[in-house]
Amino acid sequence: MDYHEELIEKSKKYLWLPFTQMKDYDKDPLIIESGEGIKVRDTEGKEYYDGFSSVWLNVHGHRKKELDDAIKKQLDKISHSTLLGMSNVPATELAEKLVHIAPKGLDRVFYSDSGAEAVEIALKMAFHYWKNKGVKEKNKFVTMTNGYHGDTVGAVSVGAVEIYHKVYQPLLFDSFKVPYPNVYHHSSRDPEICRDECLDMLENILAEHHQNICAVTAESMMQGAGGMNLMPEGYLSGVERLCKKYNVFLILDEVATGFGRTGEMFACEHEGVTPDILTAAKGITGGYLPIAVTLASEEIYQAFYDDYVKLKTLFHGHSYTGNQLGCAVALANLDLFEKEYIIDSVRQKSKIIKEELYGLLELKHVGDVRQLGFMAGVELVADKETRENFPFEERTAYHVTLKMRELGLLSRPVGDTLVFMPPLSSTEADIRAMVAIMKSAIQSVTEGNKTYADKTN
Ligand SMILES: *Cc1c(COP(=O)(O)O)cnc(C)c1O
Repeated sequence: MDYHEELIEKSKKYLWLPFTQMKDYDKDPLIIESGEGIKVRDTEGKEYYDGFSSVWLNVHGHRKKELDDAIKKQLDKISHSTLLGMSNVPATELAEKLVHIAPKGLDRVFYSDSGAEAVEIALKMAFHYWKNKGVKEKNKFVTMTNGYHGDTVGAVSVGAVEIYHKVYQPLLFDSFKVPYPNVYHHSSRDPEICRDECLDMLENILAEHHQNICAVTAESMMQGAGGMNLMPEGYLSGVERLCKKYNVFLILDEVATGFGRTGEMFACEHEGVTPDILTAAKGITGGYLPIAVTLASEEIYQAFYDDYVKLKTLFHGHSYTGNQLGCAVALANLDLFEKEYIIDSVRQKSKIIKEELYGLLELKHVGDVRQLGFMAGVELVADKETRENFPFEERTAYHVTLKMRELGLLSRPVGDTLVFMPPLSSTEADIRAMVAIMKSAIQSVTEGNKTYADKTN
C-alpha cells in the first residue's frame, strides 16, 4: 500500500466526519493535503477548485502570504492566553476594527470560536437582557422556516431545516416559526406578494405574542444551509421595522454572509439594516482559524454592566475564546480588504458570476439561480414548469457534486441546490472555468442516460 492508500484506510478506520454519512465517505473518500490560491490538492496530487471556499470560509485563497506571515509573527509572541477576566493584544485591536466596519450601532464584541457558539451567545444575550431589565416573560424567539444557525442544541432550536433538525425536536426549546419568503416556491411566484405575505405573518405573531418574545432571528439577506434562499427586496428592512414596532430584538446571523461575501462588508447593509445583535464567523480569519464574534449594541451591553453581586454577568465563555493567532490573522484579513479593495472587486466579479450562473438556466433541470455577490445556489428540479423537485432518494445534487469533483471542482449541495461560493479572490477566468465544470456535471447527471438506480447507494 502506498502512502495515499494508507491514509485513506486510516481515515476510514478512525474518523467520524462532521455532517457526513460515513457510508458515503467510505465509498468516495478524499483527503486534502495542500492548497495554493483557490485550489486544493489531495494526497494523490489531484487539484480541485475550492468552489465552496472550504465550506464558505476562504476569502483570499489558500496560503495567502500576508495571512501566513501574520500567524508566524504572532507565533513569536504568544499563541494563546485566556480572555476570561483579561484581554490580549490582537483581540483588543480586532474588536476596535470590527466595531468600525460593522453597521453603526453595534459597539461591543464578544468572542467565541464557531458560528454556532456566536449564535448561542446572541440568544443568551437577548434572553438575559430582558431578565436583567426585570422583564420576566420575554422568553421566546421567532425564527424563519429553513433557517440554519449551527449545530449546537440552542442554535438548532432556532433552526428549521426539517431533515437536519427533526430528530432532535424533543431536546429543543420551543420557538415561533414564520415562513421565509421563498419566492421560487411561493404560489404567486411574485417577489412582492411573497414578501408582503411573509411580513404579514410575522406581524401577526409579533402582534399577538410580543410580550413573550425576546428576539427575531434570521440569516441576513440569504439563507445558506436551508437552500441558498435570497430575501426579496424590502423584506429584511420590513423585519427590522416590525421588530422596532413590537419592541423585540433583531438578531442577524452573518456567519455565512459577513466579510464581503455578498458584495457588502455585511449583508444587512444591502437594506440599510442594523440589527441589535449580529453574529459573524466564517470569513473573519480569511478561512484560516476558528474565530467567531457576537456584536451587540451598547444598550444591550449596559444591561449587563453592574456590581458583580447583582449577578447580571453574561455567564458564557469558551477555553480558546479570543485566541491570539486567530485574532492576528483576522486583523491581517481585514487589512487585505482595504489594501486589495476586496468589496469593490467582489461587486465587479459578481456580475460575471451572475452572467455565468444565469446561463445555466437554459439547462433542462436548472430551475432557479439565487445569487448575491459570491454566494449563490443553483436549484435543480425534475420539472421546470411545475417547479417539482427530484425525489429525495435520488440525491441528484449530491451526485452532481461527485461528478464535479471528478472534473476538478469541490462543493457540497444543500438539498437539491448546488452551492457556488468560491473564494473572493477568484478571477474572472476562474469563475468561468468553475461554472463550465458545474454545467457539464449537471448535464451529465441530469440528462445522462444512466438511470438513477445505478447511481444511488
Ligand atoms: C455555518 C453557519 C453557522 C454555524 O457556524 P459554525 O462555525 O459551523 O458553527 C451558523 N449560521 C450560519 C448562517 C452559517 O452558515
